[in-house]
Amino acid sequence: MIANYPIPSKTFFEIASLGYLLVLYLISFNDKNRGTFRSYKLFRHLEINMMLALIVSILTYTFAYPELGTPLPVCTLLRTMDSIMCVMASRVFAVYLMEYVDSEGRLKTVSVIGNIIFFTYLILMILNLHFKFILWYTPEGTYMHGSLFVPIVFSAPVYYLTTGIMMLIFKLKTLGPREKVALSIASFVTLFGTIIQAATNGVILLSLPFGSIGIFVLYFSIETSDYHQLLKNNEILRLAEQDAIKANRAKSDFLASMSHEIRTPLNAVLGMDELILLETGKRTDVDPTFTGHIKEYAENIRDAGQVLLSVINDILDLTKIESGKMEIKPAPYRLHDLINDVGTMVRVRAEQKGLAYVQKLDPSIPDHLLGDELRIRQIMINLLNNAVKYTDSGSVELDVSMSDKTENSLSLCIKVADTGIGIKEEDMSLIFGDFQRIDEEHNHKVEGTGLGLSIVKRMIGLMNGHIEVSSKYGEGSVFTAYIPQDICSEAFEKSSDGEKRGKLADVITYHTPDCRYLVVDDNRLNLLVAKRFLDGLCGQIDTARSGEEALQKMKQTKYDLIFMDHMMPDLDGIQTYEMSLEDPDNINIKTPVIMMTANALCGVREEYLSKGFADYISKPVEIKELLRVVERHLPGDKVSYLNPL
Ligand code: ADP
Repeated sequence: MIANYPIPSKTFFEIASLGYLLVLYLISFNDKNRGTFRSYKLFRHLEINMMLALIVSILTYTFAYPELGTPLPVCTLLRTMDSIMCVMASRVFAVYLMEYVDSEGRLKTVSVIGNIIFFTYLILMILNLHFKFILWYTPEGTYMHGSLFVPIVFSAPVYYLTTGIMMLIFKLKTLGPREKVALSIASFVTLFGTIIQAATNGVILLSLPFGSIGIFVLYFSIETSDYHQLLKNNEILRLAEQDAIKANRAKSDFLASMSHEIRTPLNAVLGMDELILLETGKRTDVDPTFTGHIKEYAENIRDAGQVLLSVINDILDLTKIESGKMEIKPAPYRLHDLINDVGTMVRVRAEQKGLAYVQKLDPSIPDHLLGDELRIRQIMINLLNNAVKYTDSGSVELDVSMSDKTENSLSLCIKVADTGIGIKEEDMSLIFGDFQRIDEEHNHKVEGTGLGLSIVKRMIGLMNGHIEVSSKYGEGSVFTAYIPQDICSEAFEKSSDGEKRGKLADVITYHTPDCRYLVVDDNRLNLLVAKRFLDGLCGQIDTARSGEEALQKMKQTKYDLIFMDHMMPDLDGIQTYEMSLEDPDNINIKTPVIMMTANALCGVREEYLSKGFADYISKPVEIKELLRVVERHLPGDKVSYLNPL
């Protein structure tokens, strides 16, 4: 009986695609890790619908011919079913597409219209069985299309396919790259198949076979279980990343506000403490032991307060850098001033630890530069403070030179070398991390947060520079920062604070890089002032807070000049000088000693000179006077003039 029904050649493609869809269905059905994505369930519907549509189509084009003996009602039913199955398949395909382009279900109207069209279509097809306005068979067995065939049978699939493709085009940007490609190929391949089928007036049945190729593309690109797993994992990672970013932002906000909250009262504490220090210095009507205690306590408060302040400033800087709020503000500045200022601060710390501080500045570097002076100062101070912190004996050296000089720019090379504990090879990569402190067993007594180098590196990065480090564990470290700077074409005058420094640098006409000075004074501020002035000469400066300390240093180090205060507790300046002359271990017997005192009474100069002092300077010290005296007592080969006459 089957022999009556030869397989028509136009269904060959449909038979082939039914075969491979079946294989695909079995493979995907056997996939143990089948996805739980809604798109996957819709994909299964699509597969089943496509197979049913293919089966019905093959049956229709094989059996729906009365001349082959098939009863007319069966032929009509097959034709009707064939049309309905095609519409169903296109509808499921559209719903599947919508799942991707409108996963939140916002385009409700599109799917409501889709449903209305589908049910209207079903009703019309059922009515057609009686009224015959779409398709029917004549009593003689001829298959006929009614006047409403084209608008009714084609309008539904065309609506589904076009709305699906339109949505896809509009929402293409919201899709991932794989989805874009897979959905586009599947949609257009199905569309082309339908167009070819329509163009050949149904001679070749290609819409369902091309649709099946689309299903293959969809399966192997976006519907396999491992791809779904990948998507799930990506989503988990994305959420975790969002949480981490949020937590990091909350941490930064918290740190920034806490730092600010702590800084405000801390400034007051430090300010009041400074007043206590000033008051205790002035009061002569109170028991000196009492004021001495108060002074000591106040000094401790100041030291601890300053450490706290620097920690808070570091945290603030870090949060600023992290949130991208740290701006580099280039402005004209003078390199000499900057280095002298930095040197003055660091020298005090170095000497408090008994370290030598050496400062070198390449004289060929143009003095007027354009850059963020504040940040460069911060970088230098950070590196130098670390060098002092992590060095117990020996020296700390700041060497500023330049490279890559052009007419308008240069690269500042700031080299900070120490003879300290050094860094282990394996720790080198860690030291620039946030809150990273290394070698804690040796460093636990050294104060620090592990933020300094991280900030330094980031600030240098913001200025388009870089930093290098080389170190030998147990022998010392060298940090070299390279920071591009513009050269300021015109000389300039600075305002306010800068003005004072400008004047200091203006009057310095020579450097004495190979000289070593000793300044003896019991008053810390006086020492600071003298050091600041002498720093301009780029030599090495040692200090002593008492006569005894001075005598010790005079035994250990050969100085080129010694500045001695007169009024000091215990040994005064004159006694110290006289004892030094009698000390056989003193290696500075021939070194000129200059009296630097607030005693400015008439005739004191002669008195000091008669005692053997080489010269006399009165306090408050005038820089020009100091320079004249230094120049007068140094051998000519130790003085290098900045603008040789
Ligand atoms: P800290 O506040 O701990 O000094 P830093 O970020 O400045 O933080 O430095 C990170 C770590 O790098 C330090 O804990 C220290 O172990 C190491 N380090 C930094 N500078 C030096 C140096 N000059 N010599 C030896 N170790 C150093």
